[in-house]
Amino acid sequence: MLELRQFYIDGHWVPAHQAGEHVLVDASTEEPFGVVALGSDADTDAAVAAAKRAFPAWSMTDPARRIALVERLRIIHLERTEEMAQAISREMGAPIDLARQAQAGAGPRHMANYLAAMQDFDFIRPLGPHAPSDRIALEPIGVAALITPWNWPISQVTLKVAAALLAGCTVVLKPSEMAPLSATLFAEIVDASGIPPGVFNLVHGDGMGVGQRLATHPDVDMVSFTGSTRAGIAISKAAADSLKRVSLELGGKGANLVFADADDMAVERGVRQCFVNSGQNCNAPSRMLVERAIYERSVETAGRVAQSIAIGPSGVAGPHIGPVVSTRQFDRIRGLIETGIAEGARLVAGGPDRPAGFNRGYFVQPTVFADVSNDMTVAREEIFGPVLSIIPFDTEDEAIAIANDTPYGLTNYVQSQDGERRNRVARRLRSGMVEMNGQTRGAGSPFGGVKASGRAREGGRWGIEEYLEVKSISGWG
Ligand code: NAD
Repeated sequence: MLELRQFYIDGHWVPAHQAGEHVLVDASTEEPFGVVALGSDADTDAAVAAAKRAFPAWSMTDPARRIALVERLRIIHLERTEEMAQAISREMGAPIDLARQAQAGAGPRHMANYLAAMQDFDFIRPLGPHAPSDRIALEPIGVAALITPWNWPISQVTLKVAAALLAGCTVVLKPSEMAPLSATLFAEIVDASGIPPGVFNLVHGDGMGVGQRLATHPDVDMVSFTGSTRAGIAISKAAADSLKRVSLELGGKGANLVFADADDMAVERGVRQCFVNSGQNCNAPSRMLVERAIYERSVETAGRVAQSIAIGPSGVAGPHIGPVVSTRQFDRIRGLIETGIAEGARLVAGGPDRPAGFNRGYFVQPTVFADVSNDMTVAREEIFGPVLSIIPFDTEDEAIAIANDTPYGLTNYVQSQDGERRNRVARRLRSGMVEMNGQTRGAGSPFGGVKASGRAREGGRWGIEEYLEVKSISGWG
């Protein structure tokens, strides 16, 4: 059994004063394979104290030095890509090819985008020609607590850590208790990079323990959180008494608007995208809105594509989807599929039973519902599993109204060959991101949502600005 009972604090691996432990389970076999110690208040306090001590010197470093150290971090991370892919695949069940090709590589990619943004990032800027002795200084907030989820574990960790360090903040990272392997490896990479002691600290723990301690800690200046809307609200409340800044990247229920003039691959592309990472993506296009003229044909395509998607264990190479992360998620997703059937949605593919040929492991069939109305549970809740809901529409206005009729607002998608329509619809969708005709957003673009999907932007220069305060200075000499 693997045992993770040390935390990285002040440049050293120190034994945990643990408050409990979390058992790590292989999602493909349901076999336990390790334990991670859950930090106590004493562990959290030690990490915060180390970050607080390190802040004055780190915040005053020349940005060129911070750039050099994060570049070193990126290079070492790249050198350890295979280990990172193995760690991610094991801890959260991503198929090894996805872990290698997308999950592990996300870390160095995010760092490269931040480093590019730093090339022309001015920490001291003029206000304007009308006020020649004014300057706007962007200054690091202080100690940042970083709380991350398990679904794209190293992507989330690096989006936060690299931005915070480049901004001049010191950090305490609390990764998901479900994904401690990748974060531990990341701490080893930090250790090898030469980043000074105390600038980066890692404490494993759960939400109610380390997470809440960080959210209420008087010496933490900011919490940057990625995870569920439920936990984002709990953190906001916990952080209110100490008035710390709270940055939130939360859940989603993306709409994919497929107009009758969409390209031939639009439906298939949308179905496949919904099932990537076994549907465990905050930006999954999980509601497909289809114009009536192509509705029946699209439903038939979606069912066929879903049935063609292979399912397999995490450790086996290939393009299949893997299990979902835990027994809790497995039960929840299957329960929501049953609710969809009970509420009258038409089951086109999949269902609540394990896929044929599997009698253990948290495997869920790629499931497609048609004739969904937007007030059904499957259209309203973030399912976080491989479940697609198809909803018909008649007009552009109706499609936009359905897309916006959700508490969430992370990513919406539009499929149409009419550029004017795409532009018009993109501006009317209430979300932090809109992706159209299968075109992914460019490197360094801001990732984040509105409404119940949060209030933060990560990636590129927006991600760095999250960790900066604005100071207005007059009389600059
Ligand atoms: P989660 O909210 O259960 O946990 C996320 C993190 O918060 C974990 O580290 C957990 O230990 C901690 N936590 C939980 N409750 C807490 C509390 N009360 N106080 C302090 N910390 C607490 O989410 P999850 O299951 O790990 O991740 C899935 C969720 O994350 C989905 O809703 C998904 O949409 C969202 N997500 C959002 C983005 C984004 O960028 N918007 C990206 C990835 C995932």
